[in-house]
Amino acid sequence: MDLERYSKITNKNKREIVLLKGFPCKWGRCTFCDYIEDNDTHEEEMIKLNNEILKNVTGEFKQLEVINSGSCFELPEATLKEIKEVIQNKAIDTLYFESHWIYKNRLNEIRDFFSPTTVIFKTGIETFDDNFRNNILKKGIKLKTPYEAGDIFDSVCLMFGIEGQTKESIAYDIDCALKSFKRICINIYVENSTKFKRDEELIKWFKENYSYLEENPSVEILWNNTDFGVGGELNE
Ligand code: SF4
Repeated sequence: MDLERYSKITNKNKREIVLLKGFPCKWGRCTFCDYIEDNDTHEEEMIKLNNEILKNVTGEFKQLEVINSGSCFELPEATLKEIKEVIQNKAIDTLYFESHWIYKNRLNEIRDFFSPTTVIFKTGIETFDDNFRNNILKKGIKLKTPYEAGDIFDSVCLMFGIEGQTKESIAYDIDCALKSFKRICINIYVENSTKFKRDEELIKWFKENYSYLEENPSVEILWNNTDFGVGGELNE
């Protein structure tokens, strides 16, 4: 697959970002997701590719985000060790990782492994509308309260603009996210190979009413899923 795997995020929270390869997403059931097609099972090849990508990291912003179409727990152990080496060699002080809710009790394993580097854990809640999240998107995240996840993870990823979402649910999502998370990443849905369609009207409404969030240093909005400079079409 011809994907961009290294980039620099330079507009806010400046950091380098790498898209590495990992083993299959352990959850793997989210109905809107086709990027798990980038998952792999050939460990040696993954380690080699990840090594090549990590060679790009300069440490110029002291911050590095590592994503892998799954959770960081699905990266090969050798790759985790290489990330640690890069961090030490390039004096990186903050590392961003993603993890699904199923690993919520294991985050300290990663924090301990990379200590004293600060690890910012992102998780894709997508929406605080329980029905849409679990019955439509099949995220498998049952929250006792909308604020529970903010006590465990540092940053939340929300997904807006899928047909079936509403203005009310988006307003509620933003309210919950601002109240419970230090950081928010809003992904505007881009159609992929799954059945889900974009709701252009809803996206237009969001843009008109919530673009001001871009002024908030803790909120990032990806109008296109390649806005961080990594990823792209999953063409074989
Ligand atoms: S947890 Fe993430 S990578 Fe795995 S299926 Fe869901 S959206 Fe895709």
